[in-house]
Amino acid sequence: MIFRQLFHADTGTYTYLLGCEQTREAILIDPVVDAVDTYLQLLRELNLTLVAALDTHVHADHVTALGALRDKTGCISMMGEPARASCISQSFSDGDTIKFGTLSLKALHTPGHTDDSYSFLLPASDDETVRENYLFTGDTLLIRGTGRTDFQNGSASDQYRSLFNTLLRLPDTTRVYPAHDYKGWTSSTIGEERQHNPRLQVASEQDYVALMGNLKLPNPKWMDVAVPANLACGNALADA
Ligand code: FE
Repeated sequence: MIFRQLFHADTGTYTYLLGCEQTREAILIDPVVDAVDTYLQLLRELNLTLVAALDTHVHADHVTALGALRDKTGCISMMGEPARASCISQSFSDGDTIKFGTLSLKALHTPGHTDDSYSFLLPASDDETVRENYLFTGDTLLIRGTGRTDFQNGSASDQYRSLFNTLLRLPDTTRVYPAHDYKGWTSSTIGEERQHNPRLQVASEQDYVALMGNLKLPNPKWMDVAVPANLACGNALADA
């Protein structure tokens, strides 16, 4: 597998490029509109064809490149159910498979940060570069944190269940790649997060709801621009 973790410094966003070495088909997870030219350059230089661009959820802190990439490359743009974005070519739901060449991601519905939050699992395989599961967790599970649950139909109860009943049931060796990090930490594992993530040291769903309810975070800087723009795949940025 071809794998690149790309960083958008202004918003602390990670974008992932995954490609199949045999067929040269690739996907981008959580691309940012400002970086479209960089993605196009990298795809060209690595001789990859972008088949799909997908978001883990409707972001509130940056504008997606889904619309721009679809226009420029002809790839399909994808978000998960319940998808409210009018501009996507295809939506996915829990358990769906997203193929690129000989590889495929499994969509896991992990609501809580938003009701349309998904994680993507690339299962371990014979491919020597994919010896362990790769898990792209969006803002559901961050490194030593979890995504806030206080807007965009967020729910701390849903997030508790997504974390404990879905993600933490994966093997400890599963590699965790979140949508953001603000300290420069690039990846983790399920085992490491289980042990060291302060949000996961709760005894019950009720404790988790109380912990999330006490965070009192300010709204993200770009929220009023980003959410409406993202519901149009980034294409409404000029009008937002
Ligand atoms: Fe988010």
